[in-house]
Amino acid sequence: MTTAQQVKTLTHFIGGEMIEGKSGRYGSVYNPTTGDVIAKVPLATVEETREAIVKAQAAFPKWRDTSVAKRAEVVLKFRNLVTDNMEELLQIICTESGKTIDDARGEITRGLESVDLAIGAPHLVKGEYSVNVGGQINAYSAKYPLGVVAAISPFNFPIMVPLAQTSMAIAVGNAVVLKASERVPMTALYVSELWKKAGLPDGIWTVVNGDKDAVNELLENPIVQAISFVGSTPVAKYIYETGSKYGKRVTALGGGKNNMVVMPDADLEQVANAFIGAAYGAASQRCMAISTIMPVGEETADRLVAILKEKIAALKVGSYTEKDTDFGPVISQQSKEAILAAINKGEAEGATVVCDGRELAIVNESKGFFVGPTLLDHVTPGMEIYEQEVFGPARNVVRVDSLEEAIQLINEHELGNGVTIFTNDGLAARKFTTEIDVGMVGVNVPIPIPVGYHNFAGFKGSRFGEGHMFGPDQARFFTKTKTISERWVTNTETASTFAFPSNN
Ligand code: NAD
Repeated sequence: MTTAQQVKTLTHFIGGEMIEGKSGRYGSVYNPTTGDVIAKVPLATVEETREAIVKAQAAFPKWRDTSVAKRAEVVLKFRNLVTDNMEELLQIICTESGKTIDDARGEITRGLESVDLAIGAPHLVKGEYSVNVGGQINAYSAKYPLGVVAAISPFNFPIMVPLAQTSMAIAVGNAVVLKASERVPMTALYVSELWKKAGLPDGIWTVVNGDKDAVNELLENPIVQAISFVGSTPVAKYIYETGSKYGKRVTALGGGKNNMVVMPDADLEQVANAFIGAAYGAASQRCMAISTIMPVGEETADRLVAILKEKIAALKVGSYTEKDTDFGPVISQQSKEAILAAINKGEAEGATVVCDGRELAIVNESKGFFVGPTLLDHVTPGMEIYEQEVFGPARNVVRVDSLEEAIQLINEHELGNGVTIFTNDGLAARKFTTEIDVGMVGVNVPIPIPVGYHNFAGFKGSRFGEGHMFGPDQARFFTKTKTISERWVTNTETASTFAFPSNN
């Protein structure tokens, strides 16, 4: 049992300092593996958030005017500090999220790809130049930072998503205010220390901890120019609509319901191995987790379910402190209860429970928020477990008769984050990649997560707004393009012209 003395009171990071919360409101940060409260996180008021935004605004001009090379140097130093402090970061991430050490290490590595791309920002923000577009006029387009920009992040990637949302924004000259997830704030605060050590000027990186009050101030405050949101679909939609109403540039990435289509010619052993990792890794708390496997044909389905049943039974659910753990707990007791309720509902609606994660001893005996790996067969459209994103290890088998039926079902679903197909038939793969209405598509890969230097975002209800996380599009999203026409002549004698200027 954690004693009151062990529960840390966390802060914000504003103006380059750890600042105590003034609201008197706190959220509880849990260790999901033990179920203990390990910290109290301050929930900022509107006024505290406003003060943080104003400090960021004051810091912005100097950073904007710092050379791109100098900015890139600071980002490179930050990158090195992340790798130098990897072990400490792993402990923080695993303690507050419950993910395994290997999974957390993978998350940091993927996050660093965004930092690497940001170090190359000078190349990405190069403009365009044309000489003599009219009489002795040269024209050029140049990219300028926006000013103060905000990132609002989810709990499931305490470091990767914030790094992907903010590294490029900083490198191209903005001041960033991060509203970290109140469920995993310790990682963001530790990252703040690393930015400071890297030499980032005070005010360019801010962490405001909080909930709806802080978020609403970021959405409404006229100083904030852009919002990068990652989280669940209902909140993403709200963020997009509200931020747009207040005149901001908004990208809001939402949830996923990702399918793995299995053609009869696929190697089912390979498919099963791919599915197990992609479906249950991180206790299925990934926006790109495979939630539904869609075997084509009854025979494929029967063979596949038999293989999966055996492999799922061998999975080890437990603490990140044990070496052989495949996945840990979900983030909260509330989340655990929602997942168990979704399984009960799926069963009541007619799905067959092939593997029952409700029955594991750890689920019923531990104070941690564990849910065992669950597989429901004969799931059909219309069932809640098919329609809703279940953010935990309850996965579905949806049996289809043809590739066409699989494509139709996937395209009709509200969410369109990721999808993958397993087949040895190039024509089937080509038809699938052409016709599928989903943002990230895989062929014979478990989860189609591209590398950090490719743009990343879903379609339909998985993304609101025209922007991406990761990738070169970040350099576009966090800059505005100014186009300048310039003429320097010795003879300044010109006559007025009233016709629209032509270029000759
Ligand atoms: P969430 O939507 O509950 O919270 C995300 C952020 O929004 C948090 O910082 C939270 O404080 C804030 N927030 C929550 N409710 C709010 C409200 N009513 N008003 C204003 N702000 C609010 O998401 P989560 O549970 O932290 O994360 C899991 C979700 O994120 C899943 O749906 C997952 O699929 C999604 N996700 C998507 C991607 C992607 O790339 N598309 C990546 C990671 C996670």
